Amino acid sequence: MSIDLTPSWQDEELSMFRDNVGRFLEAEVAPHDEEARKQGHVGHEMWRKVGEMGLLCTDIPEQYGGAGGDFRHEAVVAEEMGKRGLTGLNHSVHSIVAHYFLNHGTDEQKEKYLPRMARGELVGAIAMTEPGTGSDLQSIRTHARKDGDHYVINGSKTFISNGFLAGVVLVCVKTDTSQGAKGISIMVVETENQPGYQVGRVLDKIGLKAQDTAELFFEDVRVHEGQLLGGVEGKGFFQLMGDLPYERLFIGVGAQAAMEGAYRATLDYVRERTAFGQPIADFQNTRFKLAEIATTIKVGRAFVDECVGDMLEGKLDTTKASMAKLWGSENQCRVVDECLQLFGGYGYMNEYMIGRMYTDARIQRIYGGTNEIMKEVISRSL
Ligand SMILES: Cc1cc2nc3c(=O)[nH]c(=O)nc-3n(C[C@H](O)[C@H](O)[C@H](O)COP(=O)(O)OP(=O)(O)OC[C@H]3O[C@@H](n4cnc5c(N)ncnc54)[C@H](O)[C@@H]3O)c2cc1C
Repeated sequence: MSIDLTPSWQDEELSMFRDNVGRFLEAEVAPHDEEARKQGHVGHEMWRKVGEMGLLCTDIPEQYGGAGGDFRHEAVVAEEMGKRGLTGLNHSVHSIVAHYFLNHGTDEQKEKYLPRMARGELVGAIAMTEPGTGSDLQSIRTHARKDGDHYVINGSKTFISNGFLAGVVLVCVKTDTSQGAKGISIMVVETENQPGYQVGRVLDKIGLKAQDTAELFFEDVRVHEGQLLGGVEGKGFFQLMGDLPYERLFIGVGAQAAMEGAYRATLDYVRERTAFGQPIADFQNTRFKLAEIATTIKVGRAFVDECVGDMLEGKLDTTKASMAKLWGSENQCRVVDECLQLFGGYGYMNEYMIGRMYTDARIQRIYGGTNEIMKEVISRSL
């Protein structure tokens, strides 16, 4: 069974880039994955190595230290990691943070942060969620009070991807607590030697074991007014909404890649493993399951590619990106579960990629806006 899953947007240059990314991941990232899963993060050295290889900020203009590519380059990096089940480096959150700087930052902020993020010297994180609120972003309580030419931040955030290693965090705060959306701003917080800033424990998750997800605490953290993203108060919610398609498409792309990786690994396995004197692959149930999965990923590939095309043309809207996130993550969980079943008991073992993909998949339906919120967004446009 061989189906062509080459993205429709892939040209020769991207194909070569893909080969290079794949080789690098096999040689430099995969061998350290187990260690990263044990310690709960990949470490700063890995981020720098990935930066040196030119795999960070690939769609950021060269003038800011990026590679000057476009979303297809980002998709290639996400896909090559996703299909190998390498989820330690949250490269997409890093890219999302870089895009906040690019799209909404002042010139000074772009020049100050983007080159260092591209080199992997500064890991990026975005902190919206709080212990008391996630989906209902307007209810955040972390606030920033103006004090002369500084802001003083107080509050706490939780479930923050890259939170343990982050050198720069975009913190969603209320600059006007009497307002909902209009009271939200984004503060740029550098974490090194920052009095009052504290990283809590690396959270113990059921999956994404190699990725650092952390709690962050802010107690009278003082930042200069120049650290307000874009320089104008009250724009945070709108900055967040503007970048949602980019963020959600990443989840769709990652979901598709994970399904493709799981499918290929399962094909290999069922052809080798035998039961009742024949390869598992020859049972009608296996063939039918794989036929269904192949159909799902072929259909998914077409939709993801269409969304990538829209993104390149600057016309991907939040509804369609939410569909990519919703459909991709729901199918990822189903497909990976069905693949795991074909591995039998071995599928339940952490040493098998399919087992890790199973627990890694579950969060895709929750973060980036839960799938219930995706349905709210989509239904509003009907
Ligand atoms: C591994 C991981 C990484 C994460 N990374 C980040 C990060 O980098 N930055 C960050 O800010 N956050 C991050 N999050 C947080 C994540 O985005 C939130 O968990 C998510 O938005 C849901 O918020 P909540 O957990 O508060 O759930 P709640 O908002 O309390 O929702 C609980 C349930 O109620 C449902 N619900 C809520 N509102 C509605 C509604 N209007 N209609 C129907 N159902 C509804 C939800 O869908 C969900 O099923 C991460 C979470 C995890 C677990």
